[in-house]
Amino acid sequence: MLLALPIAVLLASLASAQQQSRADRPNVVVVFTDDQGYGDLSCYGHPTIHTPNLDRLAAEGCKMTQFYVAAPLCSPSRAALLTGCYPKRVSMHKHVIFPQYDYGLHTDEVTIADMLRPRGYATGCFGKWHLGHRPGLLPRDQGFDRYVGVPYSNDMAQIHRKPDNKYAYRLPFMVDDEVVEWEPDQRLLTRRATEAAIAFIEEHRDQPFFAYIPHSMPHIPLYASEPFAGTSPRGLYGDVIEEIDWSVGQLVAALDRLKLTDNTVVIFTSDNGPWLPFKRDGGSAGLLRGGKGTNWEGGQRVPFLVKWPGHVPAGSVQREVSTAMDLLPTLAGICGAALPQDRVLDGHDVAPLWRGEPAAKSPTRHFLYYKNQGGLAGVRRGPWKLLLDKSELYHLEHDPRENWNVAKQHPDVVQALQQLAADLDAEITANARPTRTVTALRFDPRVQKR
Ligand code: MG
Repeated sequence: MLLALPIAVLLASLASAQQQSRADRPNVVVVFTDDQGYGDLSCYGHPTIHTPNLDRLAAEGCKMTQFYVAAPLCSPSRAALLTGCYPKRVSMHKHVIFPQYDYGLHTDEVTIADMLRPRGYATGCFGKWHLGHRPGLLPRDQGFDRYVGVPYSNDMAQIHRKPDNKYAYRLPFMVDDEVVEWEPDQRLLTRRATEAAIAFIEEHRDQPFFAYIPHSMPHIPLYASEPFAGTSPRGLYGDVIEEIDWSVGQLVAALDRLKLTDNTVVIFTSDNGPWLPFKRDGGSAGLLRGGKGTNWEGGQRVPFLVKWPGHVPAGSVQREVSTAMDLLPTLAGICGAALPQDRVLDGHDVAPLWRGEPAAKSPTRHFLYYKNQGGLAGVRRGPWKLLLDKSELYHLEHDPRENWNVAKQHPDVVQALQQLAADLDAEITANARPTRTVTALRFDPRVQKR
């Protein structure tokens, strides 16, 4: 006992020294939910969904109020988050990847995982991938050492469309490159992603790690596990969000237990807005208009929380514009990783916004909105947002709900933004990089319909 104490102290100081020497390589945890709206957290104003762990993340870090994903739906939004580019720049803008599709994000693209790995990071993806599921297109082909989860949307087992309409599809549950289970119990998806991520963090506690946790939920069909089902006054959707909140609490507790909290950046955000046609099973964009699949603010403006003790001021609120494309360049700076130099990126290093530096202004001078199927929808510059189809102009800081079209009062702004959107989109179109097509199957999700 007399000996044990000094040894424990010595070990603790060694661990602390090790952490210290890693201060220039903080761990990164990114929780990325599916179809969760701007208004679906207590700390973003939801009256009946209870999210104490996410609220604590906000209280101990920064909450952003003008954070955008680069598309109003899953696959394009994920491509942008991981590459720092507009989906169109990497040709991932044309809707989502269905089970019968043979293409995905090109492996020549540099993902956050690709970027961090040479810096000594262990990299893991736990949850929904949705950037291609043929061999060569899975997470382990895109910079991740480990993958656990369902590689596309959890409703896709039920989808059958041309040219394969004689088939139905099954949902694979994968570990690394192999399907270990078909049609997994979806009530357990949130818990399994959480447990796999925590096991990964424990395993790699002594080296820097990047844990990317794109939960399958709350994409429909909704499922919550036993302790959560039937508990939220908001109904099943609330149960699902509260289980995700629990998941974040578990991750934070694991970091605390491993004494990694002070050297870990924890980020929480969502891939697109709420899927409103599903009514009670869809979420809420709060005061914002529209949801998933639309270019109203509710489709693309989502919650964003970042906690990084000693760097991001506790309880801060950042009202400057930033986007999911900023994640890669910002993490490059923070983690000392090399940005790819041979290609155009669309995101910016927004660390000064995270740090709440008093004079920090958004480096995003303009932001393009793209439609569900990839067509150009509009542009934001400063407070002004132009939607091209009907030439609607909104002043988003006066009118975040987009109630008042002021195009007639500001024809000069409309004209300037039309030109700006066309010019920016033309550049992206001219320089777009290809996707990758793979004809071989890793697994065959089809089953013959009877
Ligand atoms: Mg989604």
